[in-house]
Amino acid sequence: MKVAIVGAAGRMGGRLIQAVMETDGLELSGAVERPGHPHIGTDAGLLVAVGKLGVPITDDLAETMKNADILIDFTFPDVTLKNLEICASLGKMVVSGSTGFTPEQNEQVRKYAKQIPVVLAPNMSVGVNACFKLLKEAANILGDDFDVEVVELHHNQKKDSPSGTAVRMGEVVAETLGRDYNQVANYHREGMCGQRSKEEIGMQTIRGGDIVGEHTVYFIGMGERIEISHRAMSRDMFARGATRACQWLQDKKSGLYDMQDVLGLS
Ligand code: NAD
Repeated sequence: MKVAIVGAAGRMGGRLIQAVMETDGLELSGAVERPGHPHIGTDAGLLVAVGKLGVPITDDLAETMKNADILIDFTFPDVTLKNLEICASLGKMVVSGSTGFTPEQNEQVRKYAKQIPVVLAPNMSVGVNACFKLLKEAANILGDDFDVEVVELHHNQKKDSPSGTAVRMGEVVAETLGRDYNQVANYHREGMCGQRSKEEIGMQTIRGGDIVGEHTVYFIGMGERIEISHRAMSRDMFARGATRACQWLQDKKSGLYDMQDVLGLS
């Protein structure tokens, strides 16, 4: 299957190029960056120091997708929506790891996914997706007696906050406890803000240095505390998750899928 990568020169881009090269049945056929990026024209293989692959980085996604079956997109919501529009018009599949979509943007993603198969997941790692399952289990057992707080740490270049993964973790707990995440998520405590409500789910963010990504959900009771944590040590497992999603998606019908579907956990 021929794969094109958009955001090829980004932090995830290099890991994705490497992962595509290492995955059976996948072949890198294109690499795309934003217009004006200094790496336009550079061979994609030189970004990961494997030598030339004969795949120059371009700024023309529509042209690149003519020679690809599937697009891997790790960019940003507004860019991803434009990419989905192009892929939908060409009938090409998309695996996107972009994060930070608003509810309105998610609605637009769903619209494009009626025309083509799409995997969209805020976190492509197997470990984080196992955590989603564990959180459901923990929330079911602990019920309303435990206060829930989510804390996430990322590098100082990250644009969206809290991370898409942290939001998904909060949503999983809220859904399991019969709460509406948008009503109970509390992103901000400052000054005389009053005592914590029983229903709220605190969402705390730390940014600094080169932290790849860490998430902990605290279930805090009287005299005891459970912590479910995931720490990413490198970006390679996100990239391997994306190539696994490509392999899984190739015989699927149009629709919107996530990593729980890819991993058979849904
Ligand atoms: P980055 O800023 O290092 O890379 C993004 C790349 O996209 C940049 O090289 C940028 O030039 C390129 N880009 C921007 N606009 C473009 C356009 N119009 N056309 C083509 N390319 C364009 O960011 P990153 O750390 O690689 O993360 C990228 C995205 O992936 C973010 O949304 C991040 O939150 C997400 N992410 C998801 C996962 C996951 O598992 N789902 C893991 C890590 C990061």
